[in-house]
Amino acid sequence: MSAAPPKIAVEGLQAYFRSSHVLHSVTTTIPALSVTAIIGPSGCGKSTFLRCLNRMHELTPGARIEGTIRLDGQDVHGRDVDPVSLRRRVGMVFQRPNPFPTMSIFDNVASGLRLNGMGGDHEVIVERCLRQAALWDEVKDRLKASPLSLSGGQQQRLCIARALAVEPEVLLMDEPASALDPIATAKIEDLIHELKASYTIAIVTHNMQQAARVSDQTAFFYMGDLIEVGPTEQIFTNPREQRTEDYVTGKF
Ligand code: ADP
Ligand code: MG
Repeated sequence: MSAAPPKIAVEGLQAYFRSSHVLHSVTTTIPALSVTAIIGPSGCGKSTFLRCLNRMHELTPGARIEGTIRLDGQDVHGRDVDPVSLRRRVGMVFQRPNPFPTMSIFDNVASGLRLNGMGGDHEVIVERCLRQAALWDEVKDRLKASPLSLSGGQQQRLCIARALAVEPEVLLMDEPASALDPIATAKIEDLIHELKASYTIAIVTHNMQQAARVSDQTAFFYMGDLIEVGPTEQIFTNPREQRTEDYVTGKF
């Protein structure tokens, strides 16, 4: 029995910011239609890893990488790959909700459609994405309002709806709930659970319970090394590496 091909395959990924070497030969895969949690202490390279996957690191002056990243088998650094279309296929949601403050709720979701020249009935698409992000019922009567009139959790779900509008295949989430209260966090976790039926998700989190609740696979990074990756249950109950055990049990 052969396993399904991974959505993303990373081989020998090294990342540098000028002279500092922040990821050391990371090799791993991200399975399709599942949730991968990225955990590890602050500064270990979690965000950098995520940003390499859709070539967002290229927007940081002085950043460079070596190694190969494949999306559905295709080298994302291939000559025929345009980083802007790559970022449409591999979307990103950040820690701080960052809706466009001068655009309405509706326009926040529609903005990517316009930017990418995507056809279709934008009203229908915006409604679908807001429903997918579990936000429609809360905003359907105020689509012209400012996103700043929403709570932090609603703003984050709006950012998820905006990311979904351009029909990504992968969603990268960098601590998407760490600025939110427990109820808003639970909503984001429920949403991640729903979304994995249709999207491949990688989520950075500092919250071990959250990693255990939402993910199928967990990758533990420490000081730029990928120490261990495996099924979430195994990482939390029977890790192979002492450093993984120390981290997941809160020893550091
Ligand atoms: P994490 O998300 O796990 O907290 P990061 O990926 O943000 O870690 O950072 C990994 C390392 O890379 C850290 O040592 C950090 O200081 C460094 N780093 C991150 N971004 C930059 C940058 N834009 N310029 C220089 N160094 C950076
Ligand atoms: Mg980070």
